[in-house]
Amino acid sequence: MAIDETAARRSLDAERRRLMDALDLTEGDLAEERDGRDGELAAYDQLPADQGTETSDMERDVGLQADFERRLQENAAAQSRLDSGRYGTCEVCERPIGPARLEAMPSTRFCMDHANALEAGANAVVRRP
Ligand SMILES: [Zn+2]
Repeated sequence: MAIDETAARRSLDAERRRLMDALDLTEGDLAEERDGRDGELAAYDQLPADQGTETSDMERDVGLQADFERRLQENAAAQSRLDSGRYGTCEVCERPIGPARLEAMPSTRFCMDHANALEAGANAVVRRP
């Protein structure tokens, strides 16, 4: 099946820029949260309730950051598949991935049939400490 390489490259570039922006924002939030926490330590001797809230904000942002970084890696992997002519083929069944799915998720490695099971599984592996 012929993949529109120009369109695929454009979607991957757009996705990469969105992820970089999102990562920048998250890193900015994390820096602010760390600064805020240091400031409060000095000023208020930190109330336990505040500490709880800020820890969970930071945990959320650290989780987001890890997710954006993982998606950037997927994006880079998709770019190299495009370079080697393997882009748009499911890694499990080696059938072409539908164009609508590639447009929505340009970095995907799996067809619709294998996506749910495998992307959930792949995420679980990546996120294990
Ligand atoms: Zn498949």
